[in-house]
Amino acid sequence: SDLRKKRKIAVLGSRSVGKSSLVVRYVEDAFVDSYYPTIENIFQKTITYKGQPYDCDIIDTAGQDEYSILNSKHAIGIHGYVLVYSIASQNSFEMIQTVYDKILNYTGTESVPCVIVGQKSDLHVQRQVSEAEGKELAARLKCAWVETSARHNANVAKVFELMLQETEKGSQEGGPE
Ligand code: GDP
Repeated sequence: SDLRKKRKIAVLGSRSVGKSSLVVRYVEDAFVDSYYPTIENIFQKTITYKGQPYDCDIIDTAGQDEYSILNSKHAIGIHGYVLVYSIASQNSFEMIQTVYDKILNYTGTESVPCVIVGQKSDLHVQRQVSEAEGKELAARLKCAWVETSARHNANVAKVFELMLQETEKGSQEGGPE
């Protein structure tokens, strides 16, 4: 019904960090080894947070780099962002700050609800970004943070629980519906 709460979540980050794999694992509980290099996809899922159902649109973007310009689709009407890097890619980690700055610049706000996700946590041997570095960035940007593996289904649901926790912060004080 129209009374159901709706939330729009955009998933951003460098190409091939596992954005699609994360979303597909969450929404379809599947892991496909070679997914299409993402064309943009919108997934729908009802997420229950603190006993309240939220009808969510999860927008899986094609991926960003330092030159990409944010699209209005990635900013207008978006309640929160999942910013994904791969723990096996220092470059993708550095892109998080860049993308975060682009979001603030585009929206003209001082902060946005974000969850920073260190994906591919199963790639221990190839790790380039420590947990401490991930946590430190999240603390600085005042975002939630978690490491996940879409391959092993580790912490995947946690991402979206943290996302709603971030978007609903302060909603008791009458934040935007
Ligand atoms: P996207 O471009 O960010 O959407 O990335 P994809 O979801 O297409 O994934 C890029 C590649 O990383 C694919 O070959 C995936 O199979 C692989 N991948 C995705 N998630 C994981 C993960 O959790 N662990 C490992 N080892 N590989 C992953």
